[in-house]
Amino acid sequence: MSVVLFWHRRDLRLSDNVGLTAARQRSPRVVGVFCLDPHLLQKTQPAPARVAYMLGCLRQLQDSYRQQGGQLLILRGEPSETLPELASALNAHSLFFNLDIEPYGRQRDEKVQEAFKQKGIPVETFWDQLLHAPGDVVSMAGQFYTVYTPFWKNWRQKQKAAPLPRPENFQGLTAEEIARTESIDLPSAKDLGFVWDNGFMLSPGETSALERLEEFCTGSIEAYGEERNFPANDGTSRLSAAMKFGAIGVRTVWDATLKIADNCRSDEALQGVTTWQQELAWREFYQHGLYFLPRLAHEPYRKEFLDFPWSDNEEHFQAWCEGKTGYPIVDAAMRGMNETGWMHNRCRMIVASFLCKDLIINWQRGEEYFMKKLYDGDLSANNGGWQWSASCGMDPKPLRIFNPATQAQKFDADGEYIRRWLPELGSIDTEFLISGKISNLERYRCGYVEPIVDHNAQQREFKRLYGLQKQ
Ligand SMILES: Cc1cc2nc3c(=O)[nH]c(=O)nc-3n(C[C@H](O)[C@H](O)[C@H](O)COP(=O)(O)OP(=O)(O)OC[C@H]3O[C@@H](n4cnc5c(N)ncnc54)[C@H](O)[C@@H]3O)c2cc1C
Repeated sequence: MSVVLFWHRRDLRLSDNVGLTAARQRSPRVVGVFCLDPHLLQKTQPAPARVAYMLGCLRQLQDSYRQQGGQLLILRGEPSETLPELASALNAHSLFFNLDIEPYGRQRDEKVQEAFKQKGIPVETFWDQLLHAPGDVVSMAGQFYTVYTPFWKNWRQKQKAAPLPRPENFQGLTAEEIARTESIDLPSAKDLGFVWDNGFMLSPGETSALERLEEFCTGSIEAYGEERNFPANDGTSRLSAAMKFGAIGVRTVWDATLKIADNCRSDEALQGVTTWQQELAWREFYQHGLYFLPRLAHEPYRKEFLDFPWSDNEEHFQAWCEGKTGYPIVDAAMRGMNETGWMHNRCRMIVASFLCKDLIINWQRGEEYFMKKLYDGDLSANNGGWQWSASCGMDPKPLRIFNPATQAQKFDADGEYIRRWLPELGSIDTEFLISGKISNLERYRCGYVEPIVDHNAQQREFKRLYGLQKQ
């Protein structure tokens, strides 16, 4: 029986995988394959934590294939060359894969499809990473949405597919067949030149993602509406990296929310579940946006921002990166991300607002820095979050400027989060810690910097520049 190749990309799991299920239905001789693509590993300078997380997912996926009698082969090199070579070496019948929305991924996939066409080997593609594919959620006029609320209203009432069972009983390759391929052993992150020794809040792979979903849905989800705002608490799912790499299927995630919603004991609990579902819709809103407007990867949605007079103050940018701005909540969040490779959503909004509206530095520099640090770094979610924070993106809202002190007073009222990441400020009274009103003498005593800018003056300046842009 001839081989069907299944190319994994951001679907590093067996269960609830649309393309893989279809491939397994076609033949038991499904061979999984993953390409270590030099473009993604070298040119884009990914976060070491993200590479390490991805390799951890791949390790578990290899085990899962083995348990079912199959293989996940690892290739290194340009996919449009390595995949057709593999197909020839194994005399493969066809190639299956799930589609992506990112501009680079789409171009890469077109090249791969063209190369297979030249060889006369059929390719079959599927949508897997979204509950609704781009083009499925459109306005009455047939347009994709650039405003979230109507997108959500339309998206939520659409019928969603049920999770798919885990495919079983693969017929693996023989040792002789494997020897014909250019597949390599799965390297470690260090082998690829990335050092990450700080671990993860959620271990890589399908097993821990499924366990975490279960834990979150039977625990924090009902209180999510409120709890999601407090960075010191474990009030969010922390599934973002698992969703980015597809260590968990989106239909599985959605199905879990429906089961919880059916059993909610109060309106507040149901509201918590709905609010979490809205986050899943934000994820899809940004993915659809990037699919239809690939230019967003490189420029603001609102074109009047193309020539915004951003500051090029390098010292300010470095201080922001290192968590040395003198604003405790901003610095705590940045140091926490540098240390763990993850940041709470509330803090992402605070530090992004601070970079764009207090330091008046281009949001794209922040976007790039996040991608070098986050293990859940994802082009569409990160780009969408940054454009939203800079007020230059889709879903225009009145100009929002976060006041770091007010944010800390509301969302870290006892200073627990700030103290966790700025231990040198441990002895400062909570009132002064969260308001940031720490005297210069105290700052000196604690070895903590003075504020690098004045929030009030900077927000006035940002508003002035913003006003000029809008005219
Ligand atoms: C400036 C900025 C940059 C961001 N960069 C990223 C990024 O690189 N990768 C990333 O996955 N998210 C990003 N986000 C969105 C959000 O901060 C994270 O998804 C969230 O903090 C992840 O934690 P969680 O898994 O506990 O989320 P939960 O609160 O449990 O939400 C569940 C899931 O919904 C999705 N989600 C939640 N909020 C958003 C959102 N605003 N936009 C898109 N998807 C969302 C994620 O997949 C998340 O895992 C960014 C937000 C901002 C403001």
